[in-house]
Amino acid sequence: MNLTGQNILGYETSRQGINTFQAHNPNNGTALPENFHEATAEEINTACEKAEMAFEIYRKLTAAERALFLETIAEEIMSLGDDLLERCHLESGLLVKRFQGERGRTVNQLRLFAELLKEGSWVDAKIDNKNADIRQMQVPLGPVGVFGASNFPLAFSVAGGDTASALAAGCSVVVKGHPAHPGVSEMIGKAIQKAAQKTRMPDGVFSMVQGKSIEVGQAIVKHPYIKAIGFTGSYKGGKAIFDEANRRPEPIPVYAEMGSTNPVFILPNIIKEKGEEIATNLRKSVTMGVGQFCTNPGLTILPNVEERTLFINAAKEAFDISYSATMLTEGIKKNYNAELEKLQNQTGVEVLSTGDEREEGEQGIPHLLQTDVAHFLKNEVMENEVFGPSTLLINASSKAEILQFARQLHGHLTATVHGTKEDLKEYEDLIEVLHRKVGRLLINGFPTGVEVCHAMVHGGPFPATTDSRMTSVGTGAITRFTRPLCFQNFPDFLLPKELKDKNTLEIWRLVNGEWKK
Ligand code: NAP
Repeated sequence: MNLTGQNILGYETSRQGINTFQAHNPNNGTALPENFHEATAEEINTACEKAEMAFEIYRKLTAAERALFLETIAEEIMSLGDDLLERCHLESGLLVKRFQGERGRTVNQLRLFAELLKEGSWVDAKIDNKNADIRQMQVPLGPVGVFGASNFPLAFSVAGGDTASALAAGCSVVVKGHPAHPGVSEMIGKAIQKAAQKTRMPDGVFSMVQGKSIEVGQAIVKHPYIKAIGFTGSYKGGKAIFDEANRRPEPIPVYAEMGSTNPVFILPNIIKEKGEEIATNLRKSVTMGVGQFCTNPGLTILPNVEERTLFINAAKEAFDISYSATMLTEGIKKNYNAELEKLQNQTGVEVLSTGDEREEGEQGIPHLLQTDVAHFLKNEVMENEVFGPSTLLINASSKAEILQFARQLHGHLTATVHGTKEDLKEYEDLIEVLHRKVGRLLINGFPTGVEVCHAMVHGGPFPATTDSRMTSVGTGAITRFTRPLCFQNFPDFLLPKELKDKNTLEIWRLVNGEWKK
């Protein structure tokens, strides 16, 4: 596909802006030839106005029509073929093979939401008509602004989970493309535009604006027609957008997923039985994708047993022989090095191992560091996200200290416990404490790898996200962009199909307190 550097404003394309930027190949630092035009205030306004007009039509379409739109987006993405994968590789430095998987995840996500719509019960219809006639269902919020993340150019970007769930909910979408992968953003944006035209969606149901300065995103957040924001990225960016949205004359919800350090607890019996195996697998999880996952295990808590030394030695060996690899952007690499340096300089932190550095590109070098719970508890810097291939081993002196550590944690996306059956019984109280700290608890696994399914929670208490009630992955993500609407004393002909007396859609409904189809 020929990249034009244009913004996508509904069915139109436009490049009025004089500020342009280029993508960079992180593998060799060179600028890619295409110039992308940063959206002007006028173009952003057009995108938001079109989104508002489109919303009036789109929200009333049937679930089947919206499902067909999502399925067609998936088809259009697949028909971009290898060109898309190649561009993903060029702009991110990550392997083409990785993008085969990420593309599969992205299109399956769209198809899963299409299935959800066709089944229909997600609207959570409730009917009470024994006394007064009161009915309720979920309805879409309005136009949604979406911020793509740098670390998933497909699955958390232009057609990622935020866009898929907002479109499924019946909301129109204005995406701010991530400046690290503008070419991929344009390709995907055009695939969505084509799918919208093919399935006769209203002009403006989807727009995508490009920008390298925060003003573009800020303008979307401030626009009065925008009614909610989906964001994945840094704490700094997410919190700034959240604050901006709350300063609006009409504050709006911001669902920001801002990352976490995902503590992993290794319990006393399992470290004796399988410590070395877990240590090797920990290294794999930490360095996967050059550690650029929000679920990267950044804190590993070790019990006070003799075998801890064997675990640490095995981890050291595994880190010693791991190579550095290209990170997504120069900024991310700089940030990784700066956060690592800060961590290394804290009292009580020692570097146990660094991987081998290769010469070219924006290389992130794997790091294994060590401290103890006593130092950790006195220093909140150690809980900060270090976005890259590193983990901090934290030695505990007793079970009481492990519990104290867990109680002091702030919110994270995940927590993992490795234990034998005996360990897990003995440490049930630890797991109880962790219930309040995270969105996803894992036993004997690693948190990297987030399945897209109905039961998934990719969220967690602040500062992992700005709203712990929500998930940004899985079909539950749809409710971020809906609200309940109650219909009292309505004649049947005025009610939406989902709430009419006759359940022609055959969805599950709570009728006078009883679930019925
Ligand atoms: P980011 O800096 O938070 O940027 C994400 C998006 O938000 C970009 O489109 C960015 O636009 C925009 N943005 C950032 N600050 C903004 C502000 N104040 N107002 C309006 N828009 C704003 O994330 P990133 O570029 O993907 O990576 C940078 C760092 O974020 C990483 O080093 C890492 O620490 C963290 N990160 C976390 C996750 C996660 O999963 N939670 C994922 C990726 C990165 P501009 O680029 O135009 O400023």
